[in-house]
Amino acid sequence: MNDVLVIGTVALDTIETPFGKVEKTLGGSATYASFAASFFSKPALISVVGNDFPENYIGLIKKRGIDIDGLKVAGKTFHWDGFYEYDMNEAKTRKTELNSLEHFKAEVPEKYKEIKYIFLANIDPEQQLDVLRQVGKPDFVVLDTMNFWINNKKKSLLEVIKKIDVLLLNDGEARQLFNTVNIVKAANEALSSGPNAVIIKKGEHGALLFTKNKHFNAPGYPLENIKDPTGCGDCFGGAFIGYLAKTKNLNEQNFRKAIVYGSVVASHNAEDFGLNRLKHLTMNEIEKRYKEFQDIRKF
Ligand code: AMP
Repeated sequence: MNDVLVIGTVALDTIETPFGKVEKTLGGSATYASFAASFFSKPALISVVGNDFPENYIGLIKKRGIDIDGLKVAGKTFHWDGFYEYDMNEAKTRKTELNSLEHFKAEVPEKYKEIKYIFLANIDPEQQLDVLRQVGKPDFVVLDTMNFWINNKKKSLLEVIKKIDVLLLNDGEARQLFNTVNIVKAANEALSSGPNAVIIKKGEHGALLFTKNKHFNAPGYPLENIKDPTGCGDCFGGAFIGYLAKTKNLNEQNFRKAIVYGSVVASHNAEDFGLNRLKHLTMNEIEKRYKEFQDIRKF
C-alpha cells in the first residue's frame, strides 16, 4: 500500500556546474522527491513524460519501489536547462521547455485517492490544485514551488497555499512571494495565509522551521564534496514527508527530526550529478549522517 502521493515533474535535465556538465539526464521535482521519500516510505508518483523518455530511466524509478501507475506518456518530456556558478546555492535557468507538461491534466488513479500524505512538489499550481480536488481527506499536505510559478501563476499558487499544511520555499522564493526582504516577515505572512508550518530552505546553510509559536533551525551539513545541488530542495521535501508518513507523528518534535532527515538526504544528493548519488545511497549512510547532525548541535 502506497503511503505518500507525489505530484511534480519528471524531467530530462541539462545541468552545468563548476564541476562538469550533463545533458538530458533524469531529473524533475517528483523524481527527486519520490526517490528521497522511498528511503522511508512507499511513494506513488503522478506526472507526465514524453515518448522520448528513456526506458532505462523508467527502470531506475521502478527499482526504488516507486509506483508509477499515475505516470502518463504524451508528446515530449519536460526539459530544464540550468547552471550554477561558484555560489551553488542559486540555480540559474537557461531554458524551461514545458512540452507535455503544458497540456497535462493530473488524474489521480482510484487506488491513490485514500493516501494520507501528499507532496505537491514543484509543478504548475493548477495541477497541484487538481490533485487536491481529487483525493479524499488527506492528513497532511506539503507544497513546494519555485520562482517560475511565482512569476507566472501567483494567483493559483496563493490559492493552493490556503489548502496545505506545510509550505516549503527557499529564502529567495519566500522574499519574492511575500514581497519582503525579511524572512521572518515572509514566514509570518505565509502562516497567516493557511499553512501551520513554513520551512525556509537556505541551501548549504540549512533550513528554518516556523510554526505559530515556535522556531527551529537545522544546520547545513559541512560538505566538502559538492558537485551538483540540483534536486536538493525536492530531496529535502521528499525525505521530510517520507519520514513523517513512516512515523505517523505530526508533532513539532517529530517535524524537527524529519527536517534533519531531509537535510541528510539533500546533502548526499549534492555529492554527484543528477540522481547518481541517490541511486547508491543506503539507509546506513543516512543514519550515520543523521548522528553527525546531532553531534553538530551539541554544546
Ligand atoms: P531543485 O533543485 O530541488 O529546486 O529542483 C530541481 C528540479 O526541478 C530539476 O530536476 C528540474 O527538472 C525541476 N524543475 C526546473 N524548473 C521547473 C519548473 N518550472 N517546474 C517544475 N519543476 C522544475
